[in-house]
Amino acid sequence: MTNTESAPSAAKKTSARKPAAAKKTPTVIEVRNPGTGQIVGTVPAQSADEVAAKVRELRLYQPEWEAIGAEGRKEWLLKLQDWLIDNTEHLADVLQSETSKPRADALIDPSFGADLIGYYARRAGKFLADDHPSPHSPLARVKKLTTVYRPYPVVGVITPWNFPLAMPVMDVIPALAAGAAVILKPSEVTPLSALELARGWAEIGAPPVFAVVTGAGETGAAVVGNADYIQFTGSTATGRKIAAACVERMVPYSLELGGKDPAIVLADADLDRAAHGIAFGGMFNAGQVCISVERVYVEAPVYDEFVAKLTANVKALRQGIDGREVKHDVGALANENQVSIVQRHVEEAVAAGAKVLTGGKRTGQGTFFEPTVLVDVDHSMSCVAEETFGPTLPVMKVADEAEAIRLANDSIYGLSASVWTGDKDRGERIARQLNAGAVNINDVFANLFSYALPMGGWGLSGVGARWGGAHGVRKYCRQQAITKPILPTQQRELFWHPYQIPRLLTALGAMRAAGARGLRRVDLPALLKLKGDNK
Ligand code: ADP
Repeated sequence: MTNTESAPSAAKKTSARKPAAAKKTPTVIEVRNPGTGQIVGTVPAQSADEVAAKVRELRLYQPEWEAIGAEGRKEWLLKLQDWLIDNTEHLADVLQSETSKPRADALIDPSFGADLIGYYARRAGKFLADDHPSPHSPLARVKKLTTVYRPYPVVGVITPWNFPLAMPVMDVIPALAAGAAVILKPSEVTPLSALELARGWAEIGAPPVFAVVTGAGETGAAVVGNADYIQFTGSTATGRKIAAACVERMVPYSLELGGKDPAIVLADADLDRAAHGIAFGGMFNAGQVCISVERVYVEAPVYDEFVAKLTANVKALRQGIDGREVKHDVGALANENQVSIVQRHVEEAVAAGAKVLTGGKRTGQGTFFEPTVLVDVDHSMSCVAEETFGPTLPVMKVADEAEAIRLANDSIYGLSASVWTGDKDRGERIARQLNAGAVNINDVFANLFSYALPMGGWGLSGVGARWGGAHGVRKYCRQQAITKPILPTQQRELFWHPYQIPRLLTALGAMRAAGARGLRRVDLPALLKLKGDNK
């Protein structure tokens, strides 16, 4: 979903006659409000050398950040939390300026951020505490076993444009809490909120272990080329490139990618709640949410009633540009590229026989696109098969639960899903059959606001979990195994050189007896066939 424009054909003709001028990467990026088209800021497109220098600088400060421990880091993270709370109105202004989100949506990012900081700042100490696993066999009891969590020195975070403040916070905070330094490359479409986060970090006087670099794909690629762990959120196509680059460098990565989340509405559901929840799940942030509802399957007996309720709810949504007052529900799309994807999905569906019950076109202002409900759609259509990332809800009638599950699972993606039913146990039974990283019963997005749960996609929706519980900070750490003797040590162990048959027999026999099949399978006669210097 990047904004690459193709070269005009006139330019191609000219270049046929003259030697091609070297393609210049712009050094400044203009940030626009997509609702008005106004330029609201400019940021530098930072070079690979600048990124490398920034990573080197972060490396210098990281050891001290690691050394102050989770308790020391908690102090700074909670100061940042205060800063977010104190600056909420201003942060919402910046967010609105670069996204044209409604005020209510813009207020979500700072509060979400403050909430998530509280979770990781307070719990990181527990999550990073050494583990002392039980030895696997009585023989291993002669050692104290310890697993230590030591951070990757520099974590690279690359984020998309749909939640310009919350997206960075989701990854930067757990990585900082783990003791890593962090280099963040926000989307070139919405870099201003991320720069505010960096300003906040500097304003509270925190150690310089968090830096933001701005630019497009090349700057992101430089982050991938220099950091020790990569956390990426964005399109599946870019995720694939990043994974390949990480494999080349042998650095670990975690990816949260596209989605095409299904909602299943069963005949026993509370249809009013389902119609409100799915309208919200499909239209929140104009559908530009990785876990937004992108297709709906409804059991035949309630199909007509549900579709009527859903259409009424979607039709009632207020669309427009807010100031500081909360007036509208749905804002603009991030850029023209997004509009063209949504428009294509709707037009292709209509051409193949789908009906638009509400919406279906641009409003005429900026990048606004009307909230849209589509029926008479099927899996051959792009609006059902491809990620739309826009305000469309294609709805399909299904015969029963089994058909709903089969169709919900018929996707290359597997980020999240929802099941709407009057029987919560039935909902859970269905959830366990869906191929998705998260399933919400009678709700949307609830998993996202439950930081103790893993947030990750299956299939082409991602690799690894983005955050959640202890794993959310441990993923930014290398595990170190330490063994420490408990008993007084001998001059040499039974296994050490030079090999001696009685000592080997004792060791091997003990391993079989303790860890394998007991005395029955020690099989001393077989072991005694060992030949050698029997000193
Ligand atoms: P979208 O444009 O829909 O957000 P992308 O996946 O293209 O989706 O972009 C997500 C983030 O990845 C952005 O910050 C973008 O600048 C960055 N990015 C794009 N291409 C690359 C790349 N080759 N390497 C690293 N980061 C990239």
